[in-house]
Amino acid sequence: MASIPNTKTKFLLIKCIKCNKERKVFSASTTEIKCDCGQTLVYPSASKAVIEAKVIKVL
Ligand SMILES: [Zn+2]
Repeated sequence: MASIPNTKTKFLLIKCIKCNKERKVFSASTTEIKCDCGQTLVYPSASKAVIEAKVIKVL
């Protein structure tokens, strides 16, 4: 689990830890994002999203 170090909004390419499917997400997402396999990828929190997946790169 990794959090985004600043509040600047970015798109991230992340990989599901369960099924290895890659997906683009918004780093400041305010909604929970789930993978097609059911694994939660992003949890919203007060000021930033918490990424529960492998961040491949910042876009
Ligand atoms: Zn998945």
